[in-house]
Amino acid sequence: DDQEAGGEEYLFKVVLIGDSAVGKSNLLSRFARNEFDQHSKATIGVEFQTQAVEIDGKEIKAQIWDTAGQERFRAVTSAYYRGAVGALIVYDISRKTTFESVKRWIDELTTHCDTTVARMLVGNKCDLENIRDVSVEEGKEFAEQEGLFFMETSALDSTNVQTAFEIVIREIYNNVS
Ligand code: GDP
Ligand code: MG
Repeated sequence: DDQEAGGEEYLFKVVLIGDSAVGKSNLLSRFARNEFDQHSKATIGVEFQTQAVEIDGKEIKAQIWDTAGQERFRAVTSAYYRGAVGALIVYDISRKTTFESVKRWIDELTTHCDTTVARMLVGNKCDLENIRDVSVEEGKEFAEQEGLFFMETSALDSTNVQTAFEIVIREIYNNVS
């Protein structure tokens, strides 16, 4: 028994999914390191970062998985989804096609994960209001239909990034405790 007396340890796997270049990697770097990269380049291989979050006085470790660009080839493998208890399904509010892909990403998530996986629809790049291509209402309505949490974020200016991850992590915590 390697747990502290009276303590419990929580480690939640959360996956980031969505089309290429919607800002998944930058959402993760903003959340985990408070960094943003204008010229982020996809690297090969699957990677995750672990971030501690406190919920109801309990330390929870969120292991956030980021596709390393393989979504460009529609080659996100089942290993990526294995054991995930939460997911952020990301689109870019300035590119409608990335919103239209969300259905497919949800289907893929459903194929690979338990139905209890905590899911949030994330409309990223909300700083690009001047070239918005998906309205807040469209995002909200779709999320309601599909039973997802919904939030618009900006990894660039930090809007709602922390909140989006925390809502998903809290929901997972509620599901298991
Ligand atoms: P990924 O392929 O989904 O991982 O997307 P990246 O995180 O690599 O981001 C793709 C491009 O979008 C990069 O040039 C980022 O700098 C840019 N980007 C990511 N998030 C935002 C955002 O919130 N606002 C704006 N304006 N650009 C962003
Ligand atoms: Mg990426």
